[in-house]
Amino acid sequence: MADSAVPSGHAPAILSARGICIAFGPRTVLDDVSLDVAEGEIVALLGPSGSGKSTLLRIITGLLRADRGTVELDGRSIDDLPTHRRNIGLVFQDEQLFPHRTVAQNIEFGLRMQRRPRTDRTRRVAELLAVVGLPGFEDRRVTDLSGGEAKRIALARTLAPAPRIVLLDEPLTGLDRELHDQLTVELARLLRETHTTAVLVTHDRDEAAAIADRVVRMEGR
Ligand code: ADP
Ligand code: MG
Repeated sequence: MADSAVPSGHAPAILSARGICIAFGPRTVLDDVSLDVAEGEIVALLGPSGSGKSTLLRIITGLLRADRGTVELDGRSIDDLPTHRRNIGLVFQDEQLFPHRTVAQNIEFGLRMQRRPRTDRTRRVAELLAVVGLPGFEDRRVTDLSGGEAKRIALARTLAPAPRIVLLDEPLTGLDRELHDQLTVELARLLRETHTTAVLVTHDRDEAAAIADRVVRMEGR
């Protein structure tokens, strides 16, 4: 496995973050960080707590603005695009589903934002439920789901609008060991089967090795 900020081979980068710098007050958190991710590639961003992994993801999604540097998607700067127009999916560690909605209503959230017609949404929801191994779960209440099921539904919700790239911020951290190991295998399979381009943030090197094509290390400061 390569350990580099640049993809091996010659596949063009979908995502390209260049020279990212950010400081919070006197504290420099990211100092000239660059990251390229090629089409279909799964990159793990591995680093200790506080090394700036979440900060980098927030900059890529537009939730936070870098002091310097630029983010390109498919060769175009997205620095001035708001988060919801970047076509980037994001899954947080403590991803919350909408508690008063069904599984189907949760998954179709992004599709409604895209104003996709109902028949289209229904088909896509069924497709995603099959992908995450929970076919027929449309009408379940999310409050009745197990922890593992809720993780799968959160992932389905992020994948439903077919984002260009998916960023996963420690999605498996904090789970008990058995569920963690099971979901690690499933996530690796699922991302590959759906040809999803992804950045997985983790501090767990075994998880990184199991899921990613390439590991990029962030240094602690
Ligand atoms: P990681 O995800 O690698 O654990 P973070 O990106 O969350 O690290 O944070 C990196 C550092 O930046 C931490 O020291 C954190 O306290 C600091 N930090 C992050 N966001 C802010 C903020 N909005 N204001 C001040 N400090 C912040
Ligand atoms: Mg973090």
